Amino acid sequence: MEKKSTLLIVDDAPSNIQLLAGLLKDKYQIKIATDGQRCLDLAQSDPVPDLILLDVQMPEMNGYEVCRHLQANDSTRQIPIIFVTGKDQTEDEEFGLILGAVDYIIKPYSPAIVEARVATHIKLKQQNDALRRLAMEDQLTGLYNRHVLMDVSTKRISQAHRHNLTLSVLMIDIDHFKAVNDEHGHSVGDAVLRQVAAIFKQQSRTEDVIARFGGEEFVIILDNCDLAKGAKKAELLRAALTGSPIEGLRVSASFGLAQLRDKDETFEQVLHRADEALYNAKNNGRNRVELAD
Ligand code: GH3
Ligand code: MG
Ligand code: MG
Repeated sequence: MEKKSTLLIVDDAPSNIQLLAGLLKDKYQIKIATDGQRCLDLAQSDPVPDLILLDVQMPEMNGYEVCRHLQANDSTRQIPIIFVTGKDQTEDEEFGLILGAVDYIIKPYSPAIVEARVATHIKLKQQNDALRRLAMEDQLTGLYNRHVLMDVSTKRISQAHRHNLTLSVLMIDIDHFKAVNDEHGHSVGDAVLRQVAAIFKQQSRTEDVIARFGGEEFVIILDNCDLAKGAKKAELLRAALTGSPIEGLRVSASFGLAQLRDKDETFEQVLHRADEALYNAKNNGRNRVELAD
């Protein structure tokens, strides 16, 4: 069965929350907040809501301010907001929609209309999420695609520079992969790529950025990781690949590792050095890790 979508209902009056929750609890998982700050916290904690029903008039932080905060934050911006409010003037509604809410429901409301509008926006959110996933994921392996890698790593690198953190880039290329295709067929080749990706994922932390860079090449961004730590990690991955047969075959890969230089090194530059190290790993016999100087 499909997982229920999550609604966050925000209102300073518990009776209003009761009413909405009673209406929607059969179809959705419900989270509730009775003030703006709590709403901002819950919007970022698991399960992240798929839709927020937001009261306008609340003490301390009103709904409009809450909406502004949600829209300003990268991790909550994509959550649709419906204002549910007694403020019934056209200007109020205009203001709410201009702030970025997807809908505006005036109290007292018709329960059937609330249900229908919530259902519509949940459906839109699901379609939106599916499109985002499609745009970000490599379809074969489920890893990030190259496009996302460029975007995410540029952000991670400017963070590393700003806070003086170490960061390393690992570039990986499967050895003699053409032979896998030639000898066993393209679909076995695909299965090997999926398995290799799964092994990399298994061996990594959730915050690690792992991408399929192209064909049989992968890139991993290692946060808070200097060359020595990165080399250990690469060795771990190398051993994990050769440790057990993949699709009944012996599969190995070559690894090139570069640590981000201080000052202004860009992602392209550090990636290029990782690629040079990878080239050395190939030349020095494959199934090995080489470090950029
Ligand atoms: P090396 O050890 O020097 O890296 O040799 P290699 O054979 O791995 O390298 P080469 O670049 O000559 O060949 C890469 C092969 O990867 C050729 C291409 O057909 C295959 N390939 C690229 N993308 C895919 C894919 O999505 N699925 C499958 N099955 N094969 C792919
Ligand atoms: Mg290769
Ligand atoms: Mg290659």
